[in-house]
Amino acid sequence: MLGLTLKEVSLAFREGKISPTELCRKCLNRIKKTWHLNAYITVTEELSLKQAEQSEARLLQGVPRGPLDGIPFAVKDNFCTENIKTTCASRMLKNYAPLYNATVVQKLLDQGAVLMGKTNMDEFAMGSGSTDGAFGPVRNPWSYAASYRGHRETAADSDWVIAGGSSGGSAAAVASLTSYLALGSDTGGSTRNPGALCGVVALKPTYGLLSRHGLIPLVNSMDVPGIMTRCVSDASVVLGVLQGLDVRDSTTVPAPSSQMELPEDLDVRNICVGIPEEYHAPGLSEEILAQWSRVADMFERAGARVERVSLPHTQYSIVCYHVLCHAEVASNMARFDGLEYGHRSEMDNSTEVMYSTTRHEGFNDVVRGRILSGNYFLLQQNYQHYFVKAQQVRRLIADDFRRVFGSGVDLLLTPTTLTDAACFHDFTQEDNRTRSAQEDVFTQPANMAGLPAVSVPVALSRRGLPIGLQLIGPALKDKQLLSVARWVEKRVGFPSISDCDEPRESRSDLGMTEREQTSAV
Ligand code: GLN
Repeated sequence: MLGLTLKEVSLAFREGKISPTELCRKCLNRIKKTWHLNAYITVTEELSLKQAEQSEARLLQGVPRGPLDGIPFAVKDNFCTENIKTTCASRMLKNYAPLYNATVVQKLLDQGAVLMGKTNMDEFAMGSGSTDGAFGPVRNPWSYAASYRGHRETAADSDWVIAGGSSGGSAAAVASLTSYLALGSDTGGSTRNPGALCGVVALKPTYGLLSRHGLIPLVNSMDVPGIMTRCVSDASVVLGVLQGLDVRDSTTVPAPSSQMELPEDLDVRNICVGIPEEYHAPGLSEEILAQWSRVADMFERAGARVERVSLPHTQYSIVCYHVLCHAEVASNMARFDGLEYGHRSEMDNSTEVMYSTTRHEGFNDVVRGRILSGNYFLLQQNYQHYFVKAQQVRRLIADDFRRVFGSGVDLLLTPTTLTDAACFHDFTQEDNRTRSAQEDVFTQPANMAGLPAVSVPVALSRRGLPIGLQLIGPALKDKQLLSVARWVEKRVGFPSISDCDEPRESRSDLGMTEREQTSAV
């Protein structure tokens, strides 16, 4: 039951094979069983059951609200949820409970979906591993899958692999079958990266198609709510519910289409797939390269045109992102001053001391580092040299895409990540920040240009871990992109997670209470 698609669950509800309350209980049990993954920061057990009961009553009366009525979902902990803690995995917001719901959360609730809880992440969504939050790292469910264990010479418990980030908790929640869909956020790849590493479908919609109202900002000009599901058609259903204008976010645009049903089988003969040369980046694993070629060949054999294309400014994307991201972070984080909300230091013998100790105690060093460099880029004497220059380069990166899509290419096929998921110990031993930056190389350019992109799981690596490929399309062609993604999904035969055991070490110390504030594993 937990492995079904949204359509199948709706049917099971209608046929009386299971009720929303039973399903909700199953998911809550599964959350308990997979608590060691650290995917959730808050589980809303009581509220979930109440919402499920209400949904059940609607179904019994024959008036369901739509395809999501009674469906369990999870939300990354940087989306505001009314009276439910929204921590951004930071000590700064450890006890912060907003007064309102983010628009995308409200839309899901209005459809009758059942909130299971808030998911773990990198602090303030800065990172690519979900290893940098105040509540400890997220473990990738595949670390405990038979495929991974079977491929390891030693299957020591310390071998567990990262979930990717920064929306690692959401990806792990969907992959470990505790929620049917989850919201992530995507500024440089934070939905697609963990989606690829955890073997789930991860969509970053066109910038502005989904409201950012109530999403605690990282980089306002690039942030987009992301959608994670177990299959492409589920992502399309969720997109249909969430998209469209919101008076509370002036950057939103009307949805181009409300008809979200994807074609059963697409004819790809008149599609042109671009393979960007520059995405053969250093560090790309042989296995991912092989999968990339395999899927390109699939397109070719089915009659699609597959062409090499060039996006020459790709190489500047990461460095340019760093300037723009840090500058926006410096300005966005200014609101956390110990006065209005969030943590406030007890050292308040002067306003200056209170400000600085609050921010020192509240933020981790990744966040503090970005605030510092962002303020440096924004200094009057540096502004032209860094910020304005980066804006100009951003335009060149976006123009590359425009030129390629204008020349008849319908979509681009690229890897999502450089490698499969790293072991936690390897990931954190290297300089975590450099590693995070490298990980964004394939995902980040789409954020610069505001384009829709989706990661689809295509295979398991030799280590028995998921590999994802990315499709990038022109702005507002999200549905067309998903149609092609579905075509790929149908042909690659990605296996479902066969099991997701508990690790052998005892995790009895982890209860269903609020996560301990710890950076220990
Ligand atoms: N890894 C990138 C960063 O740390 C992207 C994060 C994101 O998309 N939220 O900024």
